[in-house]
Amino acid sequence: MKIIDIIHRAASENRTRFTFELLPPLKGEGTANIFDAIDTLAPLDPAYINVTFHREDTRYTERPDGLLERHIIRQRPGTVGISAAIVKRYGIETVPHIICGDLSRYDIEDALIDMDFLDMHNVLALRGDAPHGERRFKPHPQGHSHADGLVAQIAGMNRGKFIDGDGRQHTDFCIGVAGYPEKHAESPNLDADIEALKRKVDAGADYIVTQMSFDNARILDFIARVRKAGITVPIVPGIKPLTTKSHLTILPQTFHVDLPSELVKEVEQCADNAAVREVGTEWAAMQAAGLKKAGLPVIHFYSMGRTTNIAEIVKKVF
Ligand code: FAD
Repeated sequence: MKIIDIIHRAASENRTRFTFELLPPLKGEGTANIFDAIDTLAPLDPAYINVTFHREDTRYTERPDGLLERHIIRQRPGTVGISAAIVKRYGIETVPHIICGDLSRYDIEDALIDMDFLDMHNVLALRGDAPHGERRFKPHPQGHSHADGLVAQIAGMNRGKFIDGDGRQHTDFCIGVAGYPEKHAESPNLDADIEALKRKVDAGADYIVTQMSFDNARILDFIARVRKAGITVPIVPGIKPLTTKSHLTILPQTFHVDLPSELVKEVEQCADNAAVREVGTEWAAMQAAGLKKAGLPVIHFYSMGRTTNIAEIVKKVF
């Protein structure tokens, strides 16, 4: 089923449903951890599951002659494969992410053709970040510099436009894109970022999933500004339950989001990470309840592979 239909159906039934995001297993790991994470949440009726996409990274090792050897590695391959395995095992709709980083338009087209053959018709289209240690995102020479180009390519395939000419068939993808309630790090301001978001929707995106935010007022203000800019597609807000004290520094650094003072104070007073997990779970439950009250049909949880805290929130709020 298309994600857009799942969202519309939840809205028409006046329901709020939850979704969550998982990472593909590290190379060499099997499916056990990811299936364990899903086993915790599957009985609670998630609307769908997202699976992230991880670009290549560069590692250097020192050779005996002292020179450095460069290795290109991909630690978490298999986004499409693990997504198909989830659908097969659980029957839950699953959304593989696809990014512009490292990939040519041909690579992207091939991945989407695989998904089409696997009867997977949902995708989250993203640009991706620069590799670790590099400041700027550099597109593949035959790729896209921004997610709007990727969305246009997928929307083109939906009209039967393939790179080497028109196909006899067309794909039928429902396309999600990312939005940033606290603006994307590279944008000069939120208005400019919302203009970029509009380009993605105009290119063919069906719905928006937001970056995590710990402040419902900012999420709801973002939604109001997006609507004012003429964007009408559904918006799925993203929230992340904190679990460790280190999140206070890692999350702002990695995702360029603010943590409200009240939350920071509560976490700082925690004696250990078990106490942080309790604070983080309560905060996220409070956010989920507020967003449900605001009438949002779907709420997305960033799990980073941990799902027992999300199960607690879902049991309490949904
Ligand atoms: P874009 O929409 O291209 O935006 C990037 C920047 O460029 C923004 O500042 C925007 O304002 C600007 N911009 C956009 N279009 C244009 C244009 N045409 N001209 C000029 N400027 C423009 N990363 C991964 O590597 N793998 C994942 O699986 C993944 N999943 C994610 C899921 C969600 C819900 C979110 C919110 C993010 C995810 N990310 C993931 C991170 C994402 O790749 C980064 O945030 C990345 O830096 C931006 O991606 P984007 O798709 O928003 O890019």
